[in-house]
Amino acid sequence: MRMVQVPLGERSYDIHIGENIWPAINEIWPQRLKPGQVLLVSDENVFGLYGGKLIAALHEAGFSVTPAVVPAGEQSKTLKWADTLYTAAIEAGLDRSGFIVALGGGVVGDLAGFVAATYLRGVPFVQVPTTLLAQVDSSVGGKTAVNHRLGKNLIGAFYQPQLVWIELETLSTLPKREYLAGAAEVVKYGVILHEPLITLLEKQWDGFIAGETPVLTEVIGDCCALKARVVAEDEREGGLRAILNFGHTLGHALETATSYKYYLHGEAVLAGMVLAVQLAQRRELLTEEEARRLLRLFARVGLKPAPPGLQAEAVLGALKQDKKREGDDIVFILPETIGKVRSFKDVDPQAVSDVLAAYLD
Ligand code: NAD
Ligand code: MG
Repeated sequence: MRMVQVPLGERSYDIHIGENIWPAINEIWPQRLKPGQVLLVSDENVFGLYGGKLIAALHEAGFSVTPAVVPAGEQSKTLKWADTLYTAAIEAGLDRSGFIVALGGGVVGDLAGFVAATYLRGVPFVQVPTTLLAQVDSSVGGKTAVNHRLGKNLIGAFYQPQLVWIELETLSTLPKREYLAGAAEVVKYGVILHEPLITLLEKQWDGFIAGETPVLTEVIGDCCALKARVVAEDEREGGLRAILNFGHTLGHALETATSYKYYLHGEAVLAGMVLAVQLAQRRELLTEEEARRLLRLFARVGLKPAPPGLQAEAVLGALKQDKKREGDDIVFILPETIGKVRSFKDVDPQAVSDVLAAYLD
């Protein structure tokens, strides 16, 4: 088992990563969590696959468990479902000596985390992420949220878990498309922070895609360590944390322009990263060679073609609405070399239109 620490003073916690680590729950969780009631939040898919194993391990460790299962998918990340979970928590008699566990992808993690942050003004919380995206990204860093009908993730809190438990066995059932969408965020960490991760992925790509345990442990552990470093420096997104938005400026615009129906988040981010690398190459931040190397790796993840008929104006319109824009400038995170990015407010709109038009063609 590999362990990665997220150093946040008194809010520090450990991420445990390994295959078939369910039995170790008995040893490790009681060191951090008092015996008591547990509200286990999951979605219908994941609960059917892994709920039994987690409940058995929690019983073994001396916890009492009440499951609360929501439908799979983004539609469950709402205040209405949060309210249903508050009811389940009250009916289960959950108090501050108990805790909430999220077993699932980013949807369950964000929703259960938000409920944990607000129920009784905060009860302890554990993440058991089961998608690659949740394991390398959403379960680490303490952002929790539900959606509002006027926008995604508008209602939320920064709230750190007590523990993140990454059971690699869960990835064996994750649909390939979801896996590759998570892979896009994996590649992102290499581009923004750590060239050796790019080299590792180039060398071990087949093992990574096949889900071989040693490769996954190394890759996922490295991503968690990189995110932990960023979060430790900038817990509440005052500055550095913005580099995690590499590929997300155009990625979000593509998601918005297609009403969140065509791309998975990671697929849109991958397209955004391709366009950002092309912008960086045009500005001669990246050499031809570096850009080619990154585009080759992105191609292995598999760039999704734009939907037929998507107009550049629709994407550019969405870009201008982006909540991360500062004043009238659109902020792009661009690589200066592989492993180092910076934010730019002065990206030439014509260059943006050009790379976008080439993708939409
Ligand atoms: P998800 O939670 O919807 O999971 C994707 C699908 O895979 C679902 O149908 C789910 O039931 C299924 N699934 C999950 N694990 C499985 C497994 N092991 N085997 C088989 N099927 C499985 O989607 P996601 O991509 O994990 O998360 C997306 C959400 O994460 C979005 O709401 C996004 O806003 C949020 N997010 C949050 C942060 C953060 O910092 N908090 C960061 C990135 C994304
Ligand atoms: Mg993302």
